[in-house]
Amino acid sequence: MDIQAFDLHIIGGGIIGLCAAVTLQARGIKVVILEADKIASGASYGNAGHLATEQVFPIADANILQHVPAMLFNPEGPLRIDWRYLPRLMPWAFKLLLNMRPEPFARSHQALLALNAHSLQAWQDFAKDWQLTPWIKVEGSLLTVEKTTSLADLQAHGQRLNELSVPNELLSQQQLLELEPALKDTQLGALFFPQTGHITDLSAITKKLSTTFSELGGHIVEHCPVLEAKVSVDGITLTTSDQQIYARKVMLAAGAHSKALAKQLTGISVPLDTERGYHLMLPNEAARLTLPVSSMDRRFIMTPMDTGLRLAGTVEYAGLEAPANMNRAQMLLKQAQAMLTVPLDSENSTQWMGFRPSTADSLPIIDKCGSVFLNFGHQHLGLTQAVVSAQMIAALYFDENPVIDPAAYRLDRFE
Ligand SMILES: Cc1cc2nc3c(=O)[nH]c(=O)nc-3n(C[C@H](O)[C@H](O)[C@H](O)COP(=O)(O)OP(=O)(O)OC[C@H]3O[C@@H](n4cnc5c(N)ncnc54)[C@H](O)[C@@H]3O)c2cc1C
Repeated sequence: MDIQAFDLHIIGGGIIGLCAAVTLQARGIKVVILEADKIASGASYGNAGHLATEQVFPIADANILQHVPAMLFNPEGPLRIDWRYLPRLMPWAFKLLLNMRPEPFARSHQALLALNAHSLQAWQDFAKDWQLTPWIKVEGSLLTVEKTTSLADLQAHGQRLNELSVPNELLSQQQLLELEPALKDTQLGALFFPQTGHITDLSAITKKLSTTFSELGGHIVEHCPVLEAKVSVDGITLTTSDQQIYARKVMLAAGAHSKALAKQLTGISVPLDTERGYHLMLPNEAARLTLPVSSMDRRFIMTPMDTGLRLAGTVEYAGLEAPANMNRAQMLLKQAQAMLTVPLDSENSTQWMGFRPSTADSLPIIDKCGSVFLNFGHQHLGLTQAVVSAQMIAALYFDENPVIDPAAYRLDRFE
């Protein structure tokens, strides 16, 4: 196999790289994926599986600031900063703060709204095209509250979203418990989001996509980290752990690990850091819930999957190198238990930590710079936005009109 004979080399085989690879390969482009580890073994393996089209507000949200001290001082809270990492986090955090000003906040919000508005339909069409429908449910999701003081916030949130054409319905406690009888009556009410969905088996989806990609003629090289990239007038040279590859076109989709390569490929330093998140998978609890249930007060999610109930969430700022702190995964059990009537069976549970690729303005970079395509930085929403991002990359590749105005996702916003 001549690895140089391909039209496009994609760096990173997570859900973002895979969806773009299948989309482009199906349109006649010869694509190879260079994956540092195994395909879809990063954030795309362990996320909450929620097609979260209702999440249209940037993480850089001034309204969250008031809750930060309480979150940080609670050792079991949804936010943790490893203070040793703080000096390295500061430049990113400073930019995050600047993005909380009304104008940049509104810009990011509009751009998220645009991406999410197309995300679910894009996934549904893609699922039909590539036989992924057994693992996609579009039956909605719930956001519950349990503090009486949060009820008004929930209602206001729902109203604001309805005005933005993000459909939702306010459920009373009775309606909520009828829909999800496993929930305790400490849950006072909820928003139901009908235009959201969830993936019931992430591994099955990514495996099927890998097989489809190979059947279409694409090629995957696993355990092949790209260590360095150099752009010259003659093309792009990628140095991997065991060879040098001359590439005509490259797409960077290395998730949270994209920063250094983006700089080498484009000369631009992207404010990209990672928000680490955790999950605890309970294999004996697949039937406990029917829909993904998030808690506004506890800030985590429970997603029913074919392989169990996945408890996921929390944000930890500790960079890409510090070891996982699996207490963060274990504490999700206590959080979930407090919301459910019958004790959870945690036998054979598995714990996981992964790296969300987070930019300081909460938007991905979806762009083309000469022969370099960029498709990373999807933060909390990479699964949701994977297919729509692939469509936008295809539009850039073939010089077509994109479904969404691409301006907000361009790299030059960081120049
Ligand atoms: C706890 C948690 C819950 C989440 N829940 C949701 C959710 O419910 N819904 C949602 O939409 N999103 C969710 N997300 C976010 C989502 O998982 C990510 O945005 C998405 O997976 C990013 O996909 P990716 O392909 O860009 O990155 P990844 O899946 O991390 O893939 C990047 C790939 O690039 C490879 N790579 C890295 N460096 C190199 C290199 N130098 N050379 C070659 N390959 C390289 C990596 O090995 C990896 O396989 C969640 C994230 C977490 C952590």
